[in-house]
Amino acid sequence: MRCTYCGWTVNNGACPCGRSSVEEVPELVPPGTRVLCRAGRGPSILRWDPGEVTGHIGKVHRVETSFGVCWCEADDLLPDSEKRRKLLEAGARVWARWPDGRWFPGTIDAIEEPLRHVTWDDGDSMWIEASHAVLMPVESAEIAPGRQVIASRWDGERQLGIVEEEEGSGLFRVRFLDGEEASVSGGELRSLPPNPFREAKP
Ligand SMILES: [Zn+2]
Repeated sequence: MRCTYCGWTVNNGACPCGRSSVEEVPELVPPGTRVLCRAGRGPSILRWDPGEVTGHIGKVHRVETSFGVCWCEADDLLPDSEKRRKLLEAGARVWARWPDGRWFPGTIDAIEEPLRHVTWDDGDSMWIEASHAVLMPVESAEIAPGRQVIASRWDGERQLGIVEEEEGSGLFRVRFLDGEEASVSGGELRSLPPNPFREAKP
């Protein structure tokens, strides 16, 4: 099961934000609960989609989404939470769901209940439902090969990329999402915080 506040899976009764270690986390999400869910796990299953729990078979949840029925274990669900919504205040750092179903880091900068205006770290902004954001308890990660980073390209545009290797003299080779590569000074890189919704290390 995931912490409803920070979205991390709760292992051994603890999550990074600490709220799920003091609250009892049930093993099954009850029918009628609105959730964000993913259909399964793996490198090609990156989408989290809105749905509603409509039943269970053993520990497996039946979830109706606009794409059809998904069968999900508790770790593949993020239930809506009134208590989380109340903590999603202006200025809060969040992981927020992009329309393609993936999660990216951003900041809440305005509120019109039940909506939140999120500005993602790459500069895009949008109104989204509060249920499509979770609190970000872990803010920083070291810059190292394999890490997701935000870096400036030659044209000055800031984009998401992955650190390929450390080249020495404070430079890192970065591969951007479109496949282009560049040498970027470590001072111009910002590492994305650890993402609760990615199985593998970023
Ligand atoms: Zn938590």
